[in-house]
Amino acid sequence: MKIINPATEEVVAEVEPVDAAEVDRAVERARRAFATWRAVGPGDRARLLRAFASLVEEHAEELAQLEIANSGHTVGNARWEAGNVRDVLNFYAGAPERNHGRQIPVAGGLDVTFQEPLGVVGVIVPWNFPMVIMTWGVAPALAAGNTVIVKPAEWTPLTALRLAELALAAGLPEGVLQVLPGTGEVAGARLVDHPDVAKIVFTGSTEVGKEIAAKCAGQVKRITLELGGKSANVVFADADLDKAAATAPYAVFDNSGQDCCARSRILVERTVHDDFLARLEAAVLKVRVGDPRDEATEMGPLISAEHRDRVASYLTGPVRLQGRCPQGPGFWFPATLLTPDSLDDPAFTEEIFGPVVAVVPFDDEEHAVRIANDTRYGLSGSIWTRDVGRALRVARAVEAGNLSVNSHSSVRYWTPFGGFKQSGLGRELGPDALTAFTETKNVFISED
Ligand code: NAD
Repeated sequence: MKIINPATEEVVAEVEPVDAAEVDRAVERARRAFATWRAVGPGDRARLLRAFASLVEEHAEELAQLEIANSGHTVGNARWEAGNVRDVLNFYAGAPERNHGRQIPVAGGLDVTFQEPLGVVGVIVPWNFPMVIMTWGVAPALAAGNTVIVKPAEWTPLTALRLAELALAAGLPEGVLQVLPGTGEVAGARLVDHPDVAKIVFTGSTEVGKEIAAKCAGQVKRITLELGGKSANVVFADADLDKAAATAPYAVFDNSGQDCCARSRILVERTVHDDFLARLEAAVLKVRVGDPRDEATEMGPLISAEHRDRVASYLTGPVRLQGRCPQGPGFWFPATLLTPDSLDDPAFTEEIFGPVVAVVPFDDEEHAVRIANDTRYGLSGSIWTRDVGRALRVARAVEAGNLSVNSHSSVRYWTPFGGFKQSGLGRELGPDALTAFTETKNVFISED
């Protein structure tokens, strides 16, 4: 597989994809390593995860530069991502010693529960946030005592491969964390089908997620799914319009819109719609698109020419406004603003996964909630209002897993993250993720 720098179209590496037989060998190694890893005491497992986090910290700039070259992420984002990998590893390094069971009162003996690891876990990763999304699966899975095989996306395996080397250097036993670059159809599918893989964590498109869920059902294999989104940013007339308009572009154009949490539908109360739009237009034109290595750059390229064509295919109707972007080599796409006439316009209903935002008006609170929920997705969203009661009512009514009020923040590694409806199944991060990698076992010991 030729790994291309999306900002220059240069080949940065060539990686040999694994075949199904290599996946089988990796699963066998992971199965054997499971016996070793399970037996490592909680304190030692915690220490090894902390050592891994420290090595990530030491190599943070190298990892960030690798992600810039492989994924076209802006340097600011790539550094944040390396820091997030370190933080998530440190957070779950605190878990092995706190993975408590319970003691439940019974007559005639003792009843206790254990949080048992599952075994071999497969983590299938998309290309949009390669090292971060990999770690969200890997860290809690390892902390709970599982061994892990990661299948990075075809386009973006480089940081995952480097993280596997750092894990070994930190002292994690051989086979505990393996990274297998390869295609979804061969390597990904074999992980999903393999009877010795106990759980699949899949982050990617809803279409592939459904296929994987159906296959896993055949073996009652555990799954966590993090899928697509079409999140709403709801702006009420009483909001701080300056702040709402100034921040809205970053809530969708960050990572060039290749963000499952992108607030790509902006719903604005009709009385302030035109005023908000004028401010938003000014903010969109200010987005700096260009060389991702430049610290002043706010938006880099899309991942590939193929993806750029897909994004462009949604612009069938009139375009309200487009910013500037570089010409020439690189998969560039300008920040784009649409004001669709119909709520059925595919640009308003489908996940574009590019720097395209659509703005529509609404009449009142009930209307706003109706539009926000009129989607098969339910990942995230924002609500802008100064009325606390309304903020709470709308936050409770919107069918989405991660909402923010007067903010666009979706991800904190210590709080749960995941989707309602067809945006996913289960939760990552925070305290919930650990239980997603364990099975509760109840043991009764008779006193007779
Ligand atoms: P994708 O579904 O095409 O691929 C994701 C991963 O699955 C890749 O590693 C791919 O090789 C693998 N894969 C593909 N077919 C497979 C199969 N049949 N069996 C097993 N594995 C297979 O998604 P993508 O284009 O890489 O990523 C973009 C999508 O990911 C968007 O829809 C986005 O919203 C979603 N996403 C969701 C979250 C979230 O947390 N909810 C986060 C990031 C991205």
